[in-house]
Amino acid sequence: MDGDLLHGLNGAQCDAVTSQAAVLQVLAPPGSGKTKTLTARVAYLIAHQQLKPWNIIVCTFTVKAASEMKERITGFVGAEVAKQLKLGTFHSISLRYLKQYGQHIGLDKDFGIADSSDSKAIVKRIIKQHDLTIDAGQARNRISTQKAKGIDSEQFLSSAKKIEQQEFATVYREYEATLKASNLLDYDDLLLRCGFLLRKHPQCVSNVEALLIDEFQDTNNIQYDLMALFAQRQNVITIVGDPDQSIYGFRCAEIKNLSRMKQQWPDTFTINLEENYRSSGAILNAAQRIIEQDESRPPKSLQATHSPGMRPILRKLPSATGEARWLVSEVQRIQAMTGGLLQPGDFAVLLRSAALSRTIESALNKAEVPYRMIGGTRFYDRAEVKLIIDYLRVINNPANSEAVERIVNVPARRVGEGTVKSLHEEARSEGVSLWSLVLDTVQGRCKPKTKVTDATHKGLAVFVNVILTCQRKVLDSKTEPIALVDLMNTVLKKLCFEAYLKKKYAEEYEARWANIEELIAQATEASDPERLRAMLQEDALPAIDGLEQRTASSTEDMLSMFLASTALAASSEEKPEEEGRKVQQLTISTIHAAKGLEWPVVFIPACYDGSLPHSRADDNDEERRLLYVGMTRAQALLYLSCPIKNTQREETTLSTFLIQPGVTGFFEEHGPSITLHGVTGLATTLRRDCPQKATIDEAKRKIERDEDSYWPLNGEEPVEEVAKWDHGKGSGMLPAFGTTRPAAGFT
Ligand code: ATP
Ligand code: MG
Repeated sequence: MDGDLLHGLNGAQCDAVTSQAAVLQVLAPPGSGKTKTLTARVAYLIAHQQLKPWNIIVCTFTVKAASEMKERITGFVGAEVAKQLKLGTFHSISLRYLKQYGQHIGLDKDFGIADSSDSKAIVKRIIKQHDLTIDAGQARNRISTQKAKGIDSEQFLSSAKKIEQQEFATVYREYEATLKASNLLDYDDLLLRCGFLLRKHPQCVSNVEALLIDEFQDTNNIQYDLMALFAQRQNVITIVGDPDQSIYGFRCAEIKNLSRMKQQWPDTFTINLEENYRSSGAILNAAQRIIEQDESRPPKSLQATHSPGMRPILRKLPSATGEARWLVSEVQRIQAMTGGLLQPGDFAVLLRSAALSRTIESALNKAEVPYRMIGGTRFYDRAEVKLIIDYLRVINNPANSEAVERIVNVPARRVGEGTVKSLHEEARSEGVSLWSLVLDTVQGRCKPKTKVTDATHKGLAVFVNVILTCQRKVLDSKTEPIALVDLMNTVLKKLCFEAYLKKKYAEEYEARWANIEELIAQATEASDPERLRAMLQEDALPAIDGLEQRTASSTEDMLSMFLASTALAASSEEKPEEEGRKVQQLTISTIHAAKGLEWPVVFIPACYDGSLPHSRADDNDEERRLLYVGMTRAQALLYLSCPIKNTQREETTLSTFLIQPGVTGFFEEHGPSITLHGVTGLATTLRRDCPQKATIDEAKRKIERDEDSYWPLNGEEPVEEVAKWDHGKGSGMLPAFGTTRPAAGFT
């Protein structure tokens, strides 16, 4: 087994995998095999330390990274064992504990999750209601920040002096009250409540034997506290991370958590990994040039294990649309050149902000290149998907007044917006939910103060009928759980949903219905009792001293877990996908959501000041690290580009990170073209004749304005190299680059 587990690992990686240290930190640069080592260590603990998989918590940051990690661990220990691990994001692991033991801290078992758009809608409503002038998005973030600092709304209010602070305190307090009344937890609450549960009932985690965390540099204080709580039984703790890739400072991530850990566990043992297995030498070299610009950072050693390969390409294009068209044509060209060996799934476009995706999406659509989005348009935010999910949420938890308000008149039932708002307001002031007010009205138990016309009354009755019928279906199935799909089909039928979509969206109908089919497919999967049990880890968690745990057996549980998982997937802003499809689709992602991942070919468009570094970012060093994270996702080819005019038709300036004053560059001749090697080791080719003795300043200016720079350089066609690409995933093989000279002066 050792042989298998340690096969292909280098010495330092093997040391980390087999380390006997109780607390271990593996700190290493991108592509050095941290995640690979972490997954091998999980397998090692099971095979050699005889730890039970259900007693091991493996934590990472995005749903995507969690699923990749599970895939890798499955490779070692098989699907059966991998399934038993407590593996997921901090949020999903917290959710499991809360669903299982939440009743012991007064949580209703059917609590729902307010995803980010729900939270924002609640904040917006409160702001409007009080006629305040604060920005909803900012207020929402500020609530999150306060929660991360452990300051609740009452505490905030008591210290609020300025008017602006008091206004925010009102929003914060009412936001919390709304969540409570609606039986909802937001993302922050999931972590905070789980922490509260584990402090109060530490026996919930008494079985945890090992805790492993990937991307530790991005933990915030709440997550750190959770980690300490998970690991309260002095067990094996292994974290891996890279301070240079810390990119979540804006969400209160604390790089200091690395040293905090050492203080808390003075025996913490540290292992460094120094070889990069992911990227070609030239890509690594360019990325190093970027991160080294941060002078406060200690110098580090990082060796490429691959040959230099193609230099990264920096390209200026006239406009954002031109940039998108060029990018797509490059994808097609490389694919054609490699005889289809590279699939669209081997390409990724990484963006500083999701808003940049529109232009690129439309170019891809035009060229019929299939793509998927991580961190962009969210599947669960599509109107039709959200609507059906909202119906399910109300069926599951009618106290969710925000959801009731959204769906009561969709499809249209002659219930006017004004009436709904007024009913909601009335319900709130009476301290009841919107649903119970509507129900009592329809069933004649009360006459609301809000004027309800006959037509509206009828409309409300139709709505109530849909919800009650479905709720009955759920409740009647206590002994024989019905599949979630049946429930969903009942909702669709009662709403005549297909006809509704046809009428409302005419031409777009098919695409919209396809999304509903996708949702049905997910519900089918979620109805699998095996999967449900695995989610709640029923078999895995032993009965715990006097603490009752919920078991999942009913349709109600199925529904509640399904809804929770959709809300968490929405948090990762990821469209669900079938495995096979991945290969066929190019990835568009934010850089944030791409951390930990890798692709043979990576494009980072819109590299200009204001975009990267972003104009609204406070911390330039964090922006630089973001570029570094983006660049180090690339294995074989890396393209950076910049439109001369952005989408608002404003002139742009190439990102300061890419051009640094005072550093010499030089030219190289290639027949009719000339290449400028800039500070970062990037190659820019200028087609027009360029005087060989031009000064570097002229050259920089040239980069600034030249829109004719192009690639590839003569003699540097990547056909041969990329054609040798070994498609065996995980083999870590890069094509035998070798035809190009290294970027002299930068190696
Ligand atoms: P990041 O900081 O970006 O998350 P990482 O340190 O987690 O990077 P991995 O994703 O684990 O790095 O590894 C990067 C690539 O290198 C993967 O394709 C992995 O399979 C490969 N790799 C890691 N170690 C080795 C090795 N010893 N031999 C060959 N390939 C390796
Ligand atoms: Mg990693």
